[in-house]
Amino acid sequence: MSMKVTGMKCSSCGTVSYPTHAVCPSCRNETFETVVIEGEGKVLTYTDVYALAVEYETRYLRLAIVELDDGVRVTGHLLADKPKLGMRVKTTIGTVREMAEGAIQGLQFVAV
Ligand SMILES: [Zn+2]
Repeated sequence: MSMKVTGMKCSSCGTVSYPTHAVCPSCRNETFETVVIEGEGKVLTYTDVYALAVEYETRYLRLAIVELDDGVRVTGHLLADKPKLGMRVKTTIGTVREMAEGAIQGLQFVAV
């Protein structure tokens, strides 16, 4: 099984959003096409989030904003013990949240 994470590409200005928005953050357009989010890029910034809902199994989440090599900026889990700004990463897909209904799969980044 090959899973893909998809974002939305604005049909007007071409801005790609992930996570997705109902309205384009750049031009307010409301029509989009689906695009696959994958590839390599660099970490623009990251943060450890400790204020999690009680159903999370982990103590914190390390979230990063990554600029992919095609210029698209996406948010996902950063799987790195010693992250650095500008470090090279590639996208992967993994469990971002364990729920009673099953695991939620989402975008993750690993060092290249
Ligand atoms: Zn737009």
